[in-house]
Amino acid sequence: MPMPENIKTSPDFPVPETMNAWVLGGPGELSMTTKPVPLPAKAEVLVRIDAVAICATDLEIIYHGPPAQIQGGDPFNKNFTPGHEYMGTVVALGPGVDEYEVGERVTVEIHAGCGQCKRCRQGMYTSCHNYGKNYGDVDKGHRANGFTTDGGFAEYAVNNINTLIHVDDSMSDEEATLVVTAGTAMYGLTELGGLVAGESVVVTGPGPIGLLGVAVAKALGAQPVILTGTRDNRLEIGRKLGADHVINVRNEEPVEKVRELTGGNGVDYVLECAGAPNGVNEAAQMVNRGGKICLAAFPGNSPEVDVAHLVRNNIYLYGIRGEGKSATHRAEAFMRQKRFDSTLIHTHTFDMGDLKEALRYAKDRVEDAIKVVVKNNHAVSKQEAAE
Ligand SMILES: [Zn+2]
Ligand SMILES: [Zn+2]
Repeated sequence: MPMPENIKTSPDFPVPETMNAWVLGGPGELSMTTKPVPLPAKAEVLVRIDAVAICATDLEIIYHGPPAQIQGGDPFNKNFTPGHEYMGTVVALGPGVDEYEVGERVTVEIHAGCGQCKRCRQGMYTSCHNYGKNYGDVDKGHRANGFTTDGGFAEYAVNNINTLIHVDDSMSDEEATLVVTAGTAMYGLTELGGLVAGESVVVTGPGPIGLLGVAVAKALGAQPVILTGTRDNRLEIGRKLGADHVINVRNEEPVEKVRELTGGNGVDYVLECAGAPNGVNEAAQMVNRGGKICLAAFPGNSPEVDVAHLVRNNIYLYGIRGEGKSATHRAEAFMRQKRFDSTLIHTHTFDMGDLKEALRYAKDRVEDAIKVVVKNNHAVSKQEAAE
């Protein structure tokens, strides 16, 4: 394609003019279409998408709409491409970009904040005050791929360089898609929570964030790390990722057990990833006085919370929305050092063309799917050619 002169490419990674991309019609309706390959602007690169992990939030968006917000409204019938946990290869550099090279493997954070609001200036770009204001004459430069702009269920995507994380060669494409999930747990525990080595942690809910929350907490030196859940096979994965104790809440009363394991005091942190109706109250009973509860799940209802208990016990309660403060880079560093094996939560891989089947596996947890990954063919053929 005739690339503008200020965009740098390489003959090793030819960039076509058009690409295959899945788009969302009405709720639950995905179809494959052809879109122009987007061009990177200043401070942006074009990423050839090699692998994408499916997230529970993708299912929310595809079937219900929020939290995606396209042109200020629901994402339906707007030629919108979902998908946000992707990794790939840099194939074109926007004007002035010298921080990355064509051919470099990267995984991406979802949010590029506007860079000018109070929260962006603090590194809390997932809480950007100009969230979703990136269209028409209200363009503040905010992007959240697969949420407010086109995402990863396609062959190419444009990313701000602030959202890129270099991927070590020792890491597979599938593993690289999990960096952001680990980075989200890290952001909640360290950047927002202030966890230091030797403090105690309960993680409730062995979903992807919960399981990698266990892994990150352990790698950070937390002691003990306790995981609660309902399914023994997932709790077993939690053990392999570093949980010192696991509690199946079907067999044991979790609050009692946590107190027993911590000399009656409770833990310093609860990472609430279960989203259960009584999750906050239970977390408040598990945490010690002055402890912190990080909320990382979206409960379907608005549960009643015992506020007086929080006040009397000086308990800190905070939510996290995705990643922040470049915690993903620290997560990648842990993974590169093999401090934990995140691939234990990757269960299935499909071709990008089979996205609908991949989504079914993720949604219905077919064969106890945890993280389902879809891969583009170009990545496969490229790899084969190199071998
Ligand atoms: Zn996600
Ligand atoms: Zn902002």
